[in-house]
Amino acid sequence: MGKDTSILIIYTGGTIGMIRNKKTNAYEPFDLDHLYSHIPVLKEFNFHLGHYCFSPLIDSSDMNPAFWMELAQVIFDNYESYDGFVVLHGTDTMSYSASILSFMLENLNKPVIFTGSQLPLSLIRSDGRENFINAVEMAAAEIDETPIVPEVAICFENKLFRGNRTTKYNAEDFDAFLSGNYPPLAEVGIKIRYNHNYIRKPNFKKLKISKNLCNAVAVLKLFPGMARSVVHATLNIPGLKAVILETFGSGNAPTEQWFLEELDSAIKKNIIIYSVTQCKEGAVELGLYNASYGMGEIGVISGYDITTEAAIAKMMYLLGSDMTIEMIKKKLQLSLRGELTVE
Ligand code: ASP
Repeated sequence: MGKDTSILIIYTGGTIGMIRNKKTNAYEPFDLDHLYSHIPVLKEFNFHLGHYCFSPLIDSSDMNPAFWMELAQVIFDNYESYDGFVVLHGTDTMSYSASILSFMLENLNKPVIFTGSQLPLSLIRSDGRENFINAVEMAAAEIDETPIVPEVAICFENKLFRGNRTTKYNAEDFDAFLSGNYPPLAEVGIKIRYNHNYIRKPNFKKLKISKNLCNAVAVLKLFPGMARSVVHATLNIPGLKAVILETFGSGNAPTEQWFLEELDSAIKKNIIIYSVTQCKEGAVELGLYNASYGMGEIGVISGYDITTEAAIAKMMYLLGSDMTIEMIKKKLQLSLRGELTVE
């Protein structure tokens, strides 16, 4: 690591880049050309820091497939020129973006580290400075000229997580992200301790990007007392190809006959039903209880311990490919980028 190390900073928007305009006192996005004046200590790394700024910058609530395609393309176009990538992104949908990028970037062998902050960079107590500095250091970290973290990850509040395992679970604390089913890839203290056993290994194959995403996907979160008409309306949305079904506990749902009939008729119309748990830790186990046995029998697919964010991303990616529905159903039950654990 040193002068030859080059990191591309990609700025998409979000709180981290906000600074106060001295004249108007209003928040506005900072100018990456003046990065070192905002975080002078970055100079100490002695890295070459390139930058790419989206225009317009967005609040991450406006994130969408076209934006993801541009983001994947920027990484692809600059892949050979940089050792790693830091993506500055709003925290609200960071888990979705990190998840989808993990699928879009096949054979990724370099770090793509997302970060952001809960408080704007220009505030004295901002968490942005520390998150940014840690992300740059992790994007540059290598052993024997091989990156330590060759995957899409989120660096936040002194932890590094696999991106497609995360959920934003706290709107106020600096500790905003949870990876309930997968240990942190690294923890920052006096040293940065990498959990090498949990980090994906590089495969040294050529990077490929998939830019075809299909958003004919709905999320149906179950709750006790849900009306049949709501289930029916969701499963009969014109053009719908898949439903992420947020089930109770280890994949349970009402045992009422009408419920299974609605799911069964959707499956017969080639709509994929992918069961994920509403719990933040643990997994779907179809058939463990009677309350999930019937769904397994009619062809509901288990998402095991995948998050809703990663399930949506994986579905958009697979539906956008040219795979057959049978192949997609198979892939949904396998780990493609470390997004789920199959026991
Ligand atoms: N609303 C902002 C966003 O997600 C919040 C943040 O940056 O943390 O873009």
